[in-house]
Amino acid sequence: LDLNLVPIFDDNEEFGGVLLVLQDVTAIRRLERMRSEFVANVSHELKTPVTAVKGFAETLLGGAVDDPETARSFLQIIFDESDRLNRLIGDILELSKIESRRVPLLFSPVELSSFIGKTIELMSAEAVRKQIRVTAKVEPDLYVEADEDRLRQIVMNLLANSIAYTTEGGSVSIVVEPVHDPDATLDDNGHENYEHIRIHISDTGMGIPKKDLPRIFERFYRVDKARSRSSGGTGLGLSIVKHLVELHKGTITVDSKLGVGSTFTIDLPVLQ
Ligand code: ADP
Repeated sequence: LDLNLVPIFDDNEEFGGVLLVLQDVTAIRRLERMRSEFVANVSHELKTPVTAVKGFAETLLGGAVDDPETARSFLQIIFDESDRLNRLIGDILELSKIESRRVPLLFSPVELSSFIGKTIELMSAEAVRKQIRVTAKVEPDLYVEADEDRLRQIVMNLLANSIAYTTEGGSVSIVVEPVHDPDATLDDNGHENYEHIRIHISDTGMGIPKKDLPRIFERFYRVDKARSRSSGGTGLGLSIVKHLVELHKGTITVDSKLGVGSTFTIDLPVLQ
């Protein structure tokens, strides 16, 4: 609690007493702490690649440039780290835009079977490179009202993680199904009305330890830094996904077994 004393004066500037103001500041303090933690995390995350770029450039300038093989490998590191920096900045900006709700969503009906097909196609090069089989099972004629680009961002992010955290030869599957309301009515065409669309994205990957599960949607939280780094991750993907799902008034949950695989499940209301 914060205690403030405010003197009160009347119209003739005569002292009239003291106003006692008690304010519960826990929520404000918590927000402040979260904000400064975020700034500290961002600085740390940005510093790591910048330090690498600077260090390797310095070594090159100091003479390493004369050995073509060393020069090539250092330049590759500089290139990769700059690329990482770029992705990091992009994700930070994206997250801050989404969090401050500066992203207007454009809702329209999205037919899920062709939507999922197209989205998988966008990730197919990466899947083929890792020899990961991606399959989809989508009931025909399922629609959801969504911002198609944002929905694609959600599914692509989850799909990219599934591929990144699954070893070669594994598989990823997407299942989309309607969730029926127990008191569903029939519409004019005799179709049962459903209220939610459920999208499961499962992989046969390395899985996530139980103790980490509640935290993986936090900004910059990674189960294993080295693993995330080598997969090119920024640690922001799942926070962005969660925010986007919530902007669609949906929910996202995760279920995982270490060494067996993970399933991310999104529930989206059919109508906004
Ligand atoms: P990153 O950019 O590190 O992938 P994310 O926010 O997308 O960040 O994910 C956070 C962490 O959750 C990852 O670092 C990884 O440890 C874990 N993770 C996410 N998806 C999966 C998955 N499909 N299988 C195993 N671990 C995963």
